[in-house]
Amino acid sequence: MSHLDEKINELKELGVYRKLPINEGPCEAVIKLNGKDVINLSSNNYLGFASHPRLKKAAIDAIEKYGVGAGAVRTIVGNMDIHEELDQVIAKFKHEEAAVVFQSGFACNAGVIQAITDEKDLIISDELNHASIIDGVRLSKAARAVYKHSDMVGLENILKEKRDQYKEVLIITDGVFSMDGDIAKLPEIVKLAKKYKAMTYVDDAHGSGVLGKSGRGTVDHFNLHGQVDFIIGTLSKAIGVVGGYVCGSNASREWLLHRGRPLLFSTAMMPSAAAAIIEAFKMLEESTEYTDKLWDNAKYFKNKLTALGFDIGHSETPITPIMVGEESKTVEFSKALLTRGVYVSGIVFPTVQKGKGRIRCMVSALHTKKQLDEAVSIIYQTAKEMNIV
Ligand SMILES: *Cc1c(COP(=O)(O)O)cnc(C)c1O
Repeated sequence: MSHLDEKINELKELGVYRKLPINEGPCEAVIKLNGKDVINLSSNNYLGFASHPRLKKAAIDAIEKYGVGAGAVRTIVGNMDIHEELDQVIAKFKHEEAAVVFQSGFACNAGVIQAITDEKDLIISDELNHASIIDGVRLSKAARAVYKHSDMVGLENILKEKRDQYKEVLIITDGVFSMDGDIAKLPEIVKLAKKYKAMTYVDDAHGSGVLGKSGRGTVDHFNLHGQVDFIIGTLSKAIGVVGGYVCGSNASREWLLHRGRPLLFSTAMMPSAAAAIIEAFKMLEESTEYTDKLWDNAKYFKNKLTALGFDIGHSETPITPIMVGEESKTVEFSKALLTRGVYVSGIVFPTVQKGKGRIRCMVSALHTKKQLDEAVSIIYQTAKEMNIV
């Protein structure tokens, strides 16, 4: 394994080698990380559902009824009534015809893209799409093209030049871009798709539970119900549990139940996870208090950082990057913050472009204003000392 030792040494020389931090309790606003209490600005647990008493109770009850494992893949005998119920709950919540749940958002992209395209087709993808989309596209036999981030002229040029050479064309975009927090230009994308007879595919992992009425997502935010062919979401971020889903037509669902490889070759989601997720959607249907609190906190935090002169990029959502630039400086900044009691992960190449290192602050509905004030003050002091602001 000496070739791996060499590669690991390279990481150390570049200053980007790291050990995984260990969280000793639930994922909340303050966590016990490596034995020390710190303010958590790194999780995707936007609404605080990951350890909410109602979700815990639903999961425990489901374990009593179903046990801990589904026992097989969905297509054999792992398809419990609670999985079917979850599919229906999601379709109803999202105002779409049908939904089908996968084991994770990653599995969803890995399975769906290859199942709905073949060698006669073309996939057109935003350059900043999530890694799981990139991997999903690699598994498809279709041809590929990439447009510059949110560049609608670039997208139209590809469509103009290539549409006629292919049978089906699929345009894929993140709904909310995970490293910058900006929102896809969905109305324009849908318009272009109609003009050139292309299909649309939106991965709304960071939009579900965040944007739209009670967290119905980016499609709801732009009021485009029924106009996006494939809407992907994750159940592991705002929903707080684990899993992924795709919403679309009944035909999409039926086809994926036959050809969505993660559904055929990987065991179904834990029934307790399905039960907790159903409870989460119930809570979102009942009230907007969770999403309201999230946005209130996000606006408060972002306004404070902007007023202090930080470059937070062009975020439009609770994802709040603080731009640093150099990789090693980014890692150092994150480490310094941790020793002072704030955990914000540094994001560097290959997750973002070289030279575009940043720390990415994730505000949640769980944070108190006092915790956010304290975090901002520690971030500011540290950044001043490091000439970041
Ligand atoms: C996080 C994320 C995923 C993966 O979701 P998991 O449920 O964690 O596997 C997929 N797509 C995007 C855009 C994401 O941000």
